[in-house]
Amino acid sequence: MVILIGAISDRMLGNLEMFTNLKRDVAQINLDPLQRGGILTPEARAALVEWGDGYSICDFCGGAMDRIKSPPIENFVHESLPEFLGIDEVRITHGAREGMFAAMHAICQSEDWIVCDSNAHYTTVLAAERAGLKIEFIPSSGEPSFKVSPEGYAKAIERAYEKKGNVTMAVLTYPDGNYGNIVGVKAVSEICHDYGIPLMLNGAYAIGRMPFNARNHGVDIIVGSGHKSMASSGPIGVLGATEDYARTIFRCSSLKKNKEVELLGCTVRGAGLLTMMASFSAVVERVSSWSKEVEKARWFADRMGQLGIELQGDIPHNHDLMFFKAENLYEISRMAKKGRHFLYRDLKDRGICGIKPGLTKQFKLSTYLLGESDLENVLVAFDEIITSYT
Ligand SMILES: *Cc1c(COP(=O)(O)O)cnc(C)c1O
Repeated sequence: MVILIGAISDRMLGNLEMFTNLKRDVAQINLDPLQRGGILTPEARAALVEWGDGYSICDFCGGAMDRIKSPPIENFVHESLPEFLGIDEVRITHGAREGMFAAMHAICQSEDWIVCDSNAHYTTVLAAERAGLKIEFIPSSGEPSFKVSPEGYAKAIERAYEKKGNVTMAVLTYPDGNYGNIVGVKAVSEICHDYGIPLMLNGAYAIGRMPFNARNHGVDIIVGSGHKSMASSGPIGVLGATEDYARTIFRCSSLKKNKEVELLGCTVRGAGLLTMMASFSAVVERVSSWSKEVEKARWFADRMGQLGIELQGDIPHNHDLMFFKAENLYEISRMAKKGRHFLYRDLKDRGICGIKPGLTKQFKLSTYLLGESDLENVLVAFDEIITSYT
């Protein structure tokens, strides 16, 4: 029994009770691309409980979060992550979007232009908008492959120049979050560097899943998403930069000693960071078996094709995030009793979730870290569902 002082509505009382016991409803097999790479390791789940109190990491902080030695954040941020990403300097952010914004805000001036692939995530666009930047997009080839060509970067930069734009950054989404397409980074970075423009790679779906070394690809700034691809409880991300750009992005305040302005002093000051650290050994290991994940995704896409559900984007595919088009499921939705929600319900009945409720004609899913027997069950489910309506 809670004793409340002062007036409080019955409705509020009901709300308080509702908030106190929150349960999560997920099916056994979750295909949601957003969630597959963010599932915690057992070690991270333990860290979440151990470090769950607010500001739990701040006991031994001397004023700079990334320099905390116990827990070993300094080693993680200044030694392990730079080696993992192949870049000089790394900091922790609240996510990929916060990393992109910090870099844009630090490096570009308001009214400058950036060039960016048209498959970019909406958060790239918002980050640019918040930083007061204009965007020239590199168009994709459109249906069905949605390819972005490195040469498109030169053309986009030229178009921005024609509009008297001051182009101060290029952004490549690697892979993009819609089709899971992979663009040749090296070719893009060479073009950008010919124009004297830094390349920022948005690796929200790459870092923590696939091997990637920024230095080897000529990438100047790199962002990753912890809750998407690094088995972390978010919000958390990583932001890396070469020495040249790190000086600007991670500059210290002129008023407050040792506080980095773009990070507002410190970022993830608790459990989220400890989950990323606790998962890191498993993440390093899983990245090394990336080729198996790609093989599995290709096998799965092939089998979906046999059911009349067609993969869009790169073929052969190079990532676990896949976008499918299904005219047959769309046709069913037009006559099914439950309408377009039939697919969600019928999959849920078979212990499968992760395709957005209401989608039938096109949807994305991910096979990341799912076993072959689970994937076999998914294929059987699609087959059964299609057959049951025809
Ligand atoms: C999910 C996603 C983001 C956003 O990541 P956050 O860490 O949540 O900010 C950005 N870009 C791409 C390509 C994504 O898929």
